[in-house]
Amino acid sequence: MPNSQLTLKKLKTLLDHLHDGVFSIEEGMMVYANQALSTLIGYPLDEILQQPFTCFVYKEDLEKIVSHYQARLQGENVPNEYEFRMLSKQGNAIDVRINVGVSVAPDGLRTSIGTIKDLRETKRTTRDLARSRHDIESILDNMPDVFYRTDLQGLITLMSPSCKEALGYEAEEMIGQPLASFYCTPSERAKILNALEEGKGKARHVEACLTHRDGSAVWISTNAYLRLDENGQAIGVEGIARNISERKELEDKLTAFARIDDLTQVYNRRYFYEEAEKQLILAHRYQRPAAILMLDLDRFKQINDTYGHRAGDEVLKDFAQICRDTIRETDIFGRTGGEEFAVLLPETELDSAFLLAQRICSRVNSSTFKLNQCILSYSVSIGVAIIDSEKINIGKLLSHADKALYEAKEAGRNCVRIYGAEKSESATHMR
Ligand code: GH3
Ligand code: MG
Ligand code: MG
Repeated sequence: MPNSQLTLKKLKTLLDHLHDGVFSIEEGMMVYANQALSTLIGYPLDEILQQPFTCFVYKEDLEKIVSHYQARLQGENVPNEYEFRMLSKQGNAIDVRINVGVSVAPDGLRTSIGTIKDLRETKRTTRDLARSRHDIESILDNMPDVFYRTDLQGLITLMSPSCKEALGYEAEEMIGQPLASFYCTPSERAKILNALEEGKGKARHVEACLTHRDGSAVWISTNAYLRLDENGQAIGVEGIARNISERKELEDKLTAFARIDDLTQVYNRRYFYEEAEKQLILAHRYQRPAAILMLDLDRFKQINDTYGHRAGDEVLKDFAQICRDTIRETDIFGRTGGEEFAVLLPETELDSAFLLAQRICSRVNSSTFKLNQCILSYSVSIGVAIIDSEKINIGKLLSHADKALYEAKEAGRNCVRIYGAEKSESATHMR
């Protein structure tokens, strides 16, 4: 009938336009294959039709396929869908997935009809993905820096194994925890988030302090960026952190080296001037009192000459310690010369400064400094000056205190003098 022929023709055209292969097998022979199947295995249709289907199955899968085929025809329960390898005309194995069923004609003829899906691309993609994953894991496992990832709540979702060396925790212990809980203080984490905001989702070389499992501080420098989904929505943060603790320690040492006097461990002259100047500026701005003491050891040359330069050094250390123990944390104390020291006293009126100077004098007097069996005593002279309503810089204030110190020396040493005061009011001899 012309109508049903037309339908059959249309059906064939339709089947030839499918991406997947379509076949039917009767009594072990291929009786139909569409264009896609012919292309897939590289045989022209006339070399497929009326050939045993086994010609197109890869040798190593042949036994499985034949036994499935026979079992299915006998009505046994075998899977309809499974993977195997076909054999191309060039002799190559082609990964495919078959989906097959059996149709039984009224005369009892059983026809296997099914589709064949080419799996090569999928397999290749899966293989490539597995390889990339393996490569990434191997990089993460071996890199000294720490790679981390958090979700939008700041919970860790990925952490490279190098976190163990940097922070003392296994990656598994950290995953699921808030990253914030590993920072020394919340403000350290905030530094990175602020840098991300300022850098429009990218932050570079931000330094922050974390806490090692053993409680010690770990300094890191991190490059971080916002992770976005395919719609550009932020889904978390990802970054690489480098442990810079050693560098920080070295920097701290260098900074201290530039600020601290090696012998007495108090501020050196330059740093004392800097810090004292800052305090003076604040005192003037807020109209607060401030005082300065200038301290010079008495007849120190004699100590050196009598006991040796080494002994002199020990006296300088002892003196610095007495001063440290007597002044407040907020006072600025420095060694301004060989046996010359200065203390800037913020928020301090003249009376208190004078009392403090006297206390230092008397403590030095009562200290018995032991050196190689002999007991050595020494003394100090101190000049005191305060700021007045006129703006004064540290150089000028020190020169005032120096004048008072000179008066103390003139008055016989081991005493305190105040700049600009009547000698009778301010002189106090300790002996
Ligand atoms: P005065 O009571 O007038 O201050 O007498 P002085 O001997 O303390 O004063 P002078 O300025 O004549 O001597 C200071 C001495 O301090 C001279 C110098 O050798 C010594 N000196 C300076 N720096 C150091 C140091 O770092 N270690 C030692 N041991 N001595 C030092
Ligand atoms: Mg001296
Ligand atoms: Mg001196």
